[in-house]
Amino acid sequence: MKRFFKRLVVPLAAVFCLQMPVALAQSDIPSLGDTARAELSPAAEYQLGKEIMGQVRSDPAYVNDPVLTEYLSNLGNRLVSADTQTRGELTNDFTFFAVRDPTLNAFAFPGGFIGVHTGLLLATQSESELASVLSHEIGHVSQRHIARMLSQQKQDILIPIATTALAILAASAGGDAAGAVLMGGQGYAIQKQINFTRDAEKEADRVGFQILKNAGFDTTGMTSFFQRMQTATRTYSDAPSPYLRTHPLTSERIADIDARVRREPYRQHADSLDFFLMRAKARLVQDDSEPALQTAAAVFEEQIKSGSKLYMAAGNYGLALIALHRKDIAEAKTRLQQVKKTVGEAAARQSLALNSLAIEIMLASNQTADAVREARAAIARFPSSRALAHQYANALYMSRQYGEAAKFLRKQVQMYREDPVLQRQLARVYDAQGKRALMHMAMAESYSLTGAYSAALEQLDLARKAKDVTFYDQSVIDAREREWKAIVRDDLKKR
Ligand SMILES: [Zn+2]
Repeated sequence: MKRFFKRLVVPLAAVFCLQMPVALAQSDIPSLGDTARAELSPAAEYQLGKEIMGQVRSDPAYVNDPVLTEYLSNLGNRLVSADTQTRGELTNDFTFFAVRDPTLNAFAFPGGFIGVHTGLLLATQSESELASVLSHEIGHVSQRHIARMLSQQKQDILIPIATTALAILAASAGGDAAGAVLMGGQGYAIQKQINFTRDAEKEADRVGFQILKNAGFDTTGMTSFFQRMQTATRTYSDAPSPYLRTHPLTSERIADIDARVRREPYRQHADSLDFFLMRAKARLVQDDSEPALQTAAAVFEEQIKSGSKLYMAAGNYGLALIALHRKDIAEAKTRLQQVKKTVGEAAARQSLALNSLAIEIMLASNQTADAVREARAAIARFPSSRALAHQYANALYMSRQYGEAAKFLRKQVQMYREDPVLQRQLARVYDAQGKRALMHMAMAESYSLTGAYSAALEQLDLARKAKDVTFYDQSVIDAREREWKAIVRDDLKKR
């Protein structure tokens, strides 16, 4: 499997190596805050995070699955908004996403961007365990640990260093022989140095625990997940998991968390159906090669035999996804029916994953009118769902209701100005309607949102030359061109 960001790790490692020891020498976290704040404002921190995220999104390891992303985002934002203190000085929304990687790891980078390896998602046994990992990472962000580390670097090399920091956090070579060779001995040494300090870990635990508690999760999830990681390490290899390497787990830390958990009355948290469904999905997303699918199918069959409702639902859901992947629509439909039978219609209607799968199956079997109806009903249940909005627009397009699709998408792009998928969908609809200028303008917007400004400017040129370009379009094109050219210029200056 391709390592996350391997291209960036090697060339930048040397820069990082020169700078890091200085930062470590002063890694007394509480006293760092004030000077750090003067250098890297929360707005600058967010900007930095956004730039890194742009690169993450174009990496093949980034999991581009709208439903899985939305599940993580809903869970994460529920944690972030449980307490007004959590956000710290950051005013922006947090972004949660999955990375295709079988190792146990989660990481945060400046500005509230939090990634979870599919391997970690699979290792968690309850939603509270997953929430405890996210809470700990949110703690690192709200205490601005990485931002503080980065603030000690010189401003002009801030971006390459942030990128390297991410690469090292994410690639987490060590336990993987190929990765270790790739990064070289020096790389591995650096990686050890970027580990959060003990103080930072304790602080992230303390804040994470509070977040977990305020959001109504079972706080024992924190201890049970740590125990699970330690057991996994002892059983399978001598090397600690990447998570333990980047977030060193000391006995003092475990005792601290344990004491905190014991002081709280036990609070049960009912896991959502989608937690189990998303673990099934993560298994397939992690590796969709034929042998991996066969192994996954065997796991799903076992889950169906388990007798536990949620596991039975997850097993059938996983088999439905495999069937859909193999274009066996009849089998996918049967499996989806099984899931609904297991959990009941009411619970099925409340599951984003099941709503989305039903639409997907209808589209795959060319029941486009049914898909439109189903998607419209699903949107009424989940009005803010991005995944369902994309599916509804797609269903309208597939059923050739271009006028309706354009109307819906134009409203959506006003509400969600940063969504490149909507703009791409809009371009496709305009294309079907034969509206050339508008099509190129929507493509331009889509490219600009992924940071591909030269491609965006090319599209503007094509829009300007289109036969159906209006006077009004021209003025929009001119304004966008000025704006994007200025961004490109500033970018060149920075580098
Ligand atoms: Zn940590």
